[in-house]
Amino acid sequence: KSGYVALVGRPNVGKSTLLNHLLGQKLSIVSRRPQTTRHRILGIKTDGRGQVIYVDTPGIHGGARRAMNRYLNRTAISSLLGVDVILWLVDRAGWLPDDELVMARIKEAKLPVILVINKVDRIEGKDTLLPFLAEANATGLFSEIVPISALKGINLAVLEERVLALL
Ligand code: GDP
Ligand code: MG
Repeated sequence: KSGYVALVGRPNVGKSTLLNHLLGQKLSIVSRRPQTTRHRILGIKTDGRGQVIYVDTPGIHGGARRAMNRYLNRTAISSLLGVDVILWLVDRAGWLPDDELVMARIKEAKLPVILVINKVDRIEGKDTLLPFLAEANATGLFSEIVPISALKGINLAVLEERVLALL
């Protein structure tokens, strides 16, 4: 099994942290400041199960008024071309207005999408996630919905299994 997997989502949701944790190396730039990742970076993970080529993208932004934001949007959207699976990361805050822009792009791409709910280590009560899970499920957009913590490494093995199953 092998294929390309795009990491998309708002700035700061944890895309670079996830990539670094999955690959076990500091390949991508992780920062508290949004928009640190200016160019897509490829990370390749090969093991007994197959080869997964991860594409880290700059965040897709709503309200792209500034030239830099427009550039980042184009880069993020073009990075979806030719991929096999999309990992759409959101954090525990759930949907924000910017996510609607990402959603529109994902619908256009007509690819399998795994909704990855990151930063679950910061969720206080487990039940706070339930309305969001129900809403996400009702969109019918997602092949899988996987809660993780990219920082703590929670549920990443499950995520990798789901990715491989879609390749
Ligand atoms: P990106 O802009 O989507 O690439 O986000 P980054 O990977 O740069 O992460 C943005 C911030 O969120 C950094 O301060 C990370 O340490 C933090 N972060 C990422 N994943 C997690 C997580 O699972 N839990 C917590 N608590 N923080 C996280
Ligand atoms: Mg990043």
